Amino acid sequence: MQYQCAKCNNTYEISPLRYKCDCGSALNLIADSRILPNAQVPAAMSLWRYREALPIDAETDIVTLGEGMTPLIPIETDAPEHLLKLDYLCPTGSYKDRGAAVLLTHLKALGVEEVVEDSSGNAGAAIAAYSARAGICCTIYCPESTSKGKLKQISAYGAELKLVEGNRMATTEAVKLAAETTCYASHNWHPFFLEGTKTLAYEIVEQLGWRAPTHVICPVGFGSIYLGLFIGFRELNVQGIIKDTPRLLGVQPDVCCPIYNAYLENTSFISRMIQTGETLAEGITAELPIRGDNILEALRSTNGAFTTVDDTNIKKGMKILATKGIYVEPTSAVVVSAYQKFKKEGTITTGDQVVSILTGIGLKSSGVL
Ligand SMILES: [Zn+2]
Repeated sequence: MQYQCAKCNNTYEISPLRYKCDCGSALNLIADSRILPNAQVPAAMSLWRYREALPIDAETDIVTLGEGMTPLIPIETDAPEHLLKLDYLCPTGSYKDRGAAVLLTHLKALGVEEVVEDSSGNAGAAIAAYSARAGICCTIYCPESTSKGKLKQISAYGAELKLVEGNRMATTEAVKLAAETTCYASHNWHPFFLEGTKTLAYEIVEQLGWRAPTHVICPVGFGSIYLGLFIGFRELNVQGIIKDTPRLLGVQPDVCCPIYNAYLENTSFISRMIQTGETLAEGITAELPIRGDNILEALRSTNGAFTTVDDTNIKKGMKILATKGIYVEPTSAVVVSAYQKFKKEGTITTGDQVVSILTGIGLKSSGVL
């Protein structure tokens, strides 16, 4: 098991301080993974039912709060063509628990005693909660504008909170100095985080009777779901469990959509897009995703697509979901209007089966509707 640079192919041993390549690019994890459909493991109703497919030794004590195995339900009764994956029902209220569980298990096994992380809220809460569970000291850097509910949650887990003036990028800059001497448990940089989010693909396929949907829609900022889905579906495909890989459809806010721009202009790289205004989708405002090459690879090789959503349609999406009994944060609600757009433009057609990922619970950002 080792790290490999996505850009220059340099390889590195796995160590607590290593989170990126010397060339500055993000690292991928090179490891064997075997998905056993009939795996009988003690934590069978969590993502650890796929333990053999995760880069964690059989003897390692896992750090878990029972994350994963979230419901997959039709958006309304008798609508099997559009299913919702309720991943906001993970222990801290977002899908980020998947990555945090695998990452903190790995770091604890390495003997790490202290971590730092930067986040727009949900990832910070997840890293703080799993650090608490692991007995690891944790400091989270957040933009000042982060929802109060998310900040309170992070503090409640006992993490030290550092508020940073300015936007999401300013927060990332602030954490870099700390990451020189303390382990950076980054949901964007750390390859073990994606090893957790890839279990979303396994679960969807298992819940559909070991077959894949035709499309999956998810919000995309830095791409930790989009890439996790790509890795998971690719593994399922390589191992012959599914025949076809779903088309991966990403959604970005209209005021910060660098991946959508690259998709639209069919460029081979992603250019930074300075955020042009406020958005309710605070969880997906990445001006320049660090795994841009990986995201474009996932987009092209799955015949994927991207679209954007504005605040008016985000609110509409929240309302539509709420009237069906589903209370999610604005960042999650982008998938509703995205589904309609993809349908209108013909990316989704009759006979397709689509799964939309609902990423974060509405309780932390109440007051929007
Ligand atoms: Zn490199």
